Order: sequence, then structure tokens, then C-alpha cells
Amino acid sequence: MSDIFQNVEPMVHESRISVPYHWWAGDTASRFFIDLRDSQKIMGTRCSKCSKTYVPPRKTCPTCFTPNDEWREVASQGTLISYTVVRRHQASLPKKPPIIYGLIQLEGADTAVLHIIDELKPEDVKIGMKVQAKFSSQRKGTMFDIEYFRPVH
Ligand SMILES: [Zn+2]
Repeated sequence: MSDIFQNVEPMVHESRISVPYHWWAGDTASRFFIDLRDSQKIMGTRCSKCSKTYVPPRKTCPTCFTPNDEWREVASQGTLISYTVVRRHQASLPKKPPIIYGLIQLEGADTAVLHIIDELKPEDVKIGMKVQAKFSSQRKGTMFDIEYFRPVH
């Protein structure tokens, strides 16, 4: 095998590419997003074998591999089970930092959703606090149809 870098300094350049693309969310995620957009309902799927409700919905139970055929609406309110605070700006962030990202276990769900926590300062966030979804006024069928979660007062 020849050494292609013999007597050559390997040069590495940074660049950026923009690749527009579309993808189908699938039947399970599509139904979830349509209910968010059109009804402001947060729906999960339930495993009939181990009785867990998954939000976001899972087509198949990741624990026992049973198809999750039952849909259930869960509450738009839940408990903050963990969080982090992003303080460094990145182009991919939806807004200017600091941004609080939280894992929210909605009432009626056995799993948590990741979303932004807002309307409070990062130093006031507490694990275990109750939070409520604030739906966007213009919903498009994405996770940001929930604009963010805010503390329940
Ligand atoms: Zn199961």
C-alpha cells in the first residue's frame, strides 16, 4: 500500500453546504403532528402488553416490541424531570440564549418530551416543577406547534 501523504502536507479546509430535503414523518408521527396542529391535543400511543404510554408516540413498544395500536390523549401539563441551560449561541438554536431545555413528563405519559422551558429565569428552574404547554398561535404540524412549556402558577 502506498502512502498517499508521503511528502505532502494534508490540507483540510472547512466549508458549508446547504442541502434542502423533504422527508415523510411516517404515519405515527404524522398523526401526532396533525393532532397538535389542528386540535392542540398531545397524543401518545399505549402498549397493551406493558401498559406504558409513549409521548411522543411510538409505533412499536421499545420494551416488548408489541405494536402500539391504542392512541391516548395526555395532558398538556406535566412535571419537569430534568433540564439544561444553553448559554452559547449557535445558528441552529430557535432563539437567543440562554435557552432552557427540559424533559417534561406529561400527565398520563410514561415517557418525557424534550422542549423549551420559558417565562422564567434559568436560576428559577427546579426539577419537579409543574409546567404547561403554550401552543403557538400559528401551528404548522411540527413540535414547535407547542411554542414552549411555562411554569404552572
Ligand atoms: Zn410493551
